[in-house]
Amino acid sequence: MGRSPRTAADALVRPTGPAHSRSRGYPIVVILCRCQNTGVASPQELLEALERYWGSSAFRLRQLEIIEAVLAGRDVAAVLPTGGGKSLCYQMPALFLKGTAVVVSPLIALMKDQVEQLKRRGIPAAALNSSLPHAEQVKSQQALVAGKLKLLYLAPERLLRPDTLEMLRRARVCYFAVDEAHCISEWGHEFRPEYRQLANLRDLHPEAPVLAFTASATLRVRHDLLAQLRLRDPAKFIRSFARPNLRYLARETDTREQRRLLLAALRAHQGASVIVYAATVAQVEETAADLTEHGIPAVAYHAQMEADRRRRAQDGWMAGSPSVLVGTIAFGMGIDKPDVRAVIHLSLPKSVEQYYQEAGRAGRDGLPSDCLLAWRPQDIGINVYFLKQISDPQERRRAWRRFDEIRAFAGATQCRHQVICRHFGERARSQLCRMCDVCGAAPSWLAAPAAPRRRRAYNR
Ligand SMILES: [Zn+2]
Repeated sequence: MGRSPRTAADALVRPTGPAHSRSRGYPIVVILCRCQNTGVASPQELLEALERYWGSSAFRLRQLEIIEAVLAGRDVAAVLPTGGGKSLCYQMPALFLKGTAVVVSPLIALMKDQVEQLKRRGIPAAALNSSLPHAEQVKSQQALVAGKLKLLYLAPERLLRPDTLEMLRRARVCYFAVDEAHCISEWGHEFRPEYRQLANLRDLHPEAPVLAFTASATLRVRHDLLAQLRLRDPAKFIRSFARPNLRYLARETDTREQRRLLLAALRAHQGASVIVYAATVAQVEETAADLTEHGIPAVAYHAQMEADRRRRAQDGWMAGSPSVLVGTIAFGMGIDKPDVRAVIHLSLPKSVEQYYQEAGRAGRDGLPSDCLLAWRPQDIGINVYFLKQISDPQERRRAWRRFDEIRAFAGATQCRHQVICRHFGERARSQLCRMCDVCGAAPSWLAAPAAPRRRRAYNR
């Protein structure tokens, strides 16, 4: 048998032979040509591409409709919860369209993971950012202009640099996909001012559709991002924020009780993949060492570790050895491990969105998983200290509001699933969920809640 073309680009330039080493005999060139004529692929063709490149046999909820909207040339605004398969929605259409899809992503680590995954799947992709060697960047730029890339990942700052814009003018862009699009809204929990300038894309490439994707956006943020990105009659998709397989548990603790709960939770999930989020680098290191000492091997992960050690920590945990990772919130973006059985927070997050995103890394395979928020009163003092450092009065007000919301979630006397769904503007059914401590689903290792204490009021 002759050598098989290994990538989609190979298939484009070499119209014979199987498209991929895992080919099941579908000539990919037929798929590509037919779609380029009509601009649309049939659901069957999309399913074939899903199997061929992603190795899955079925689309997740809304994925197919979103991909079809992109192929029909529409702008898209999609809110898909963590684990909902956002990336496929902006990656797959590029296979069926002429030109390169430009993906705007805020994090270099996230881009790197996605580009590596795409390449492994035989899809030509590249990222441009300052962490890459110059020669590699030049090569990627040449590939882009020559039409040999299906996807190009850029951070917003890089995208809007004059030389990048000039390069894109010489290339053929089939659409722009803005990932983590909530970063464009100052009402969001991760506002990034540089996202604001993405509005200029409309003037620079009026012909290219713009797609906005996010995993967590309140009603207000959703409206804001449609306006900021100047989307044109976008196809809108929102998936429910309900995660019925997650058991939400929250406790206010002191340091001793927090440690007891952590050990109890980990023993209950012995051998299973767990993420423990700690507030500071020191707490990460101490906790990982303490757990290991107590016979629960755990690895630390934080931004101050050198890159090599951090990667080893992540790779080891991904492979299941050790099964417990203690990290700061730097850990987890872009990580797609389906079988995380518990996510444990040792401090109050800054917002419900942040909590939902981090806790949502549990149970992506749909199996029952625990999300334990074991926080301490001093978290409030620390958060208040940082809130007071925010100099912009409006931003400070918004940050206070987010903090009030997460405190309300932590101290909720109503179903925690409902509190989360309502937060995202979703009406939830009012019934016992049987998957949160408020609804009586607390496991035996979680002691009865402490009596609520009077809270101090803070100057804002
Ligand atoms: Zn409940």
